[in-house]
Amino acid sequence: MTGNMWGWHDANGFTRLINVSGTMTSLGGSVTGPAAQKAAADAMGHFVKMHELQEHAGRVISRLTRAEAGCVTASASAGISLCVAGCMTGLDPSRAEALPADPGPRDIVVAQAGHLCHYGAPIETAVGLTGGRLRVIGQSTLCADHQLEGALNDSVAAALYVVSHHVVHYGQIPFARFVEIAHRAGVPVIVDAASEYDLTGFIEQGADLAIYSGHKFLSGPTSGIIAGRRDLVRAAYLQNIGIGRGMKVGKESIMGLVAAMEDWMSRDAATIRAAERAALDEWQAAVADLPGVTARIVPDPTNNPLDRLQIEIDPREAGANAAAFAAALGRQDPAIIVRDHEVELGYFQLDPCNLLPGQQSLVAEALRNVLGAGTDQAGADPRNGAIRAYLEWACG
Ligand SMILES: *Cc1c(COP(=O)(O)O)cnc(C)c1O
Repeated sequence: MTGNMWGWHDANGFTRLINVSGTMTSLGGSVTGPAAQKAAADAMGHFVKMHELQEHAGRVISRLTRAEAGCVTASASAGISLCVAGCMTGLDPSRAEALPADPGPRDIVVAQAGHLCHYGAPIETAVGLTGGRLRVIGQSTLCADHQLEGALNDSVAAALYVVSHHVVHYGQIPFARFVEIAHRAGVPVIVDAASEYDLTGFIEQGADLAIYSGHKFLSGPTSGIIAGRRDLVRAAYLQNIGIGRGMKVGKESIMGLVAAMEDWMSRDAATIRAAERAALDEWQAAVADLPGVTARIVPDPTNNPLDRLQIEIDPREAGANAAAFAAALGRQDPAIIVRDHEVELGYFQLDPCNLLPGQQSLVAEALRNVLGAGTDQAGADPRNGAIRAYLEWACG
């Protein structure tokens, strides 16, 4: 264990925590590697023509995604707004400046009901910020081809497809079919793939614009990536004269992200995977003999090359339910923040992809201590917890 693992937290009075939940905005997004940290720090010392910087990033995005063009924005959520706006205005600056008050005649974005997710904010808001309107097709668990076909008329600027563990996983139109139907009607497809490792597949299958988060698995600074057709990327970038201004990305984030993308392209995926597997094995062994606890290794639901440890709790034998244990782990020092968005189903998960050196065995120890001891129900309300944290925030 590194001696000063908590030096930064302690010096500032911040809660010590270990992130085994995945990439969470509420936990600071990502931890960047040394190359991205240095690139961001170097950029802070210079003035630069931002359009040149964005062209530089665009070339790296093209290599990463095999898209024609790309640019960087503040977040994937910002990317959704800019792409939608770009599809509405094209490369017309007066129309870009008129948003959101006057979205013009092509102001509709079509999306499947099962794709309307909440990633910390409703995706509808990212669309609505442009002045555009959503035309929702299908119901939560079923959407058929005719519903997409029937929704595509002259007022439609784009069709939005969302890939995420947050969306409904059955009964939706498959991506390739969605693209085929939209393109037949001359409508561009925007794919929100914020959290997906597949950086080339959606473009390859015909996405006109693909959006990725810079600070999720890529481990860049807080940022978003837009990749796709050159005309549409340029139209999305133009929105910086309008609604995009409040979504401005700085030179430090762009250069940090470029370094993170280069790191990603040269990473040793097999070694990373093996280290993640070793963590899952250690945690699984740590809880193997605890009553009412079953731990199994499960694959990622959207087929990212990532496994997690799912800890299933039988409350009669374990002494508390999964939600209570997840909350109790969060009260340890360091706090162990687990993946609890499906906790009502009787389990939580441990995600190994953001572990820092020395943390693996601290997690194993906390699991044994907490899961072996029973606990009370305090804080066991993850559905409302995120909002409560905002309402309790007292601004210093
Ligand atoms: C995380 C996420 C977003 C938002 O990404 P940010 O870069 O944090 O804005 C949008 N869509 C999906 C599907 C996500 O998983």
